[in-house]
Amino acid sequence: MTRLGVMGGTFDPIHHGHLVTAEEARVQFDLDRVLFIPSGHPPHKDPADITPSEHRYLMTFLATVSNPHISVSRLEIDRSGPSYTIDTIRLLAAEFAGAELFYITGADAIMQIMRGEWERSPELLEMCEFIAATRPGFVLDLDVLRRHNCTGRPLVNVHVMAIPALAISSTEIRARVRTHRPIKYLVPEAVEAYIVKHGLYREDSWRREPSGG
Ligand code: NAP
Repeated sequence: MTRLGVMGGTFDPIHHGHLVTAEEARVQFDLDRVLFIPSGHPPHKDPADITPSEHRYLMTFLATVSNPHISVSRLEIDRSGPSYTIDTIRLLAAEFAGAELFYITGADAIMQIMRGEWERSPELLEMCEFIAATRPGFVLDLDVLRRHNCTGRPLVNVHVMAIPALAISSTEIRARVRTHRPIKYLVPEAVEAYIVKHGLYREDSWRREPSGG
């Protein structure tokens, strides 16, 4: 049976912490491949606060293009309305019928699902395995949530993966660009070049749409 990793995130921008997370999940959980799904319209974020989806998609594509185990999906980018993860997982379950799905994202997001804070959380928790990536200093009390969560039954399909490289964060990278500090070695070279070329994350360019090469 195919084991498919589904890497959900806003990726604003994608950085080495995300890439290490995907690779670590692939090896630890013996995944055949990992599909990155940049969020189109994150339901919990004001559209004015995030970079246009086409930029985030293109940076994710550039960052992963050389890895034969990774591909990037436009599924959420091309769908209108809020990007509910339950809709994405249902579509993938139909498209990859018979595959086992592993949803990978930040640990705090997975804790929100277990508390029932996402759209149709109980149904979502029945549909796949979950891999919660934690960054250094993040204290996680998943055991209680595994026993007492919105499904009303103990969960055995939620796993935790500590990722030291997640000390890098997209928030920090955006702040660095805004304050003219270096981001070299925090993001892939092609992503750094893309950010510079399109003037992303500078005070004057926050919402610029991509145009031309
Ligand atoms: P976020 O709230 O911006 O990020 C939460 C934390 O998780 C941040 O520290 C973030 O670090 C980290 N993170 C995010 N994606 C990660 C990944 N793939 N691997 C490791 N760490 C990650 O989260 P977000 O990126 O916007 O949302 C995560 C996913 O949840 C998205 O696909 C979003 O659409 C989905 N979501 C769905 C619902 C719903 O269905 N109702 C609600 C909320 C979120 P960085 O900032 O460095 O990435």
